[in-house]
Amino acid sequence: MNSVLEHTPDELREAFARDGLEPFRADQVLRWVYGRGVRDFGAMSDLARTLREQLAGAWRIRCLERDSLCESSDGTRKLVLRAWEGAKIELVMIPEERRRTLCVSSQVGCSLDCSFCATGRLGLGRNLRAEELVDQVLHGAELLAPSSEKITHVVFMGMGEPLLNLRNVIHAIRILADPRAGALSPRRITVSTAGVVPSIAELGRALRVRLAVSLHATTDAVRDVLVPLNRRFPIATLLEACRRYPASRRDPISFEYALIRDVNDSRDDARRLARLLRGLRAKVNLIRMNEHPGTHYRRPAEATVEDFAETLAASQVMVTLRRSRGEDIFAACGQLGALAQAGRGVSSPAFVR
Ligand code: SF4
Repeated sequence: MNSVLEHTPDELREAFARDGLEPFRADQVLRWVYGRGVRDFGAMSDLARTLREQLAGAWRIRCLERDSLCESSDGTRKLVLRAWEGAKIELVMIPEERRRTLCVSSQVGCSLDCSFCATGRLGLGRNLRAEELVDQVLHGAELLAPSSEKITHVVFMGMGEPLLNLRNVIHAIRILADPRAGALSPRRITVSTAGVVPSIAELGRALRVRLAVSLHATTDAVRDVLVPLNRRFPIATLLEACRRYPASRRDPISFEYALIRDVNDSRDDARRLARLLRGLRAKVNLIRMNEHPGTHYRRPAEATVEDFAETLAASQVMVTLRRSRGEDIFAACGQLGALAQAGRGVSSPAFVR
């Protein structure tokens, strides 16, 4: 069966034409799906009944089923979706004053095994297809529908490394950003990476989306342990690729930095970080380490966090201190998949600095 969600509007018009249908029928279907959230051909009342039946027999508009939903005391919601083979995919809706940010997953599990991250310990299941990426956004929109709110931002920061599934991520973003489909501004879409250097340039050539880099350390010795991918692409190589990424002053590269007690939270780290980012269009997103079952890493004292942020700011680095969201439901950064493996006895490596 064909998938509507796997097609850009132009591709869908072509596919309909190949099936002997008028191409404008594709535009009608897309308006129902993305504009009104209707995923049942039978309810598309401006299509003739015979056409609705023909489409329902040949096309699908949904590929993920809702498995469970939990809500944090801070309003963050974690939605678990189920793929056809039973794989579970987690996405997180983060409500803020004027934003509704949806954090989507790009892979089932992840191969990169960052030592502070629960998802990494799941290992890689598989890449998600473009239709599964788009379907996550439609599920997110369905979550907001009762309140008539709309998703304002999409971040590819859930389970998986987006740049190791780049072809599908780019295709899904083309669908999500098309005014005739998802209609999201590319400036409101962020793709994060742990540092897959060759793909950073490819992303920059293909799309004008925001880039987020999970940096988390200021020396290769520390980053080699936190983000093992660093052994292939060390900090200097990663930052060189970032310098070439088409970031603007308005949309700087966001460097994610999870503060971990006695690992990467010293004033020297803050000063080194400021030096590393000199000359880059960059801002730093500080995150307090999100503790979860199976990790020894702990979050620093609040005074240390504030001192780190102030040291960066004093060095003219744009810095934000991200409030952790959804921790009580294991929906915060680095926690996705934590419940699936709680009790397996995994532990993070001992860290000596
Ligand atoms: S932090 Fe991201 S890249 Fe690293 S293991 Fe977790 S999901 Fe994968």
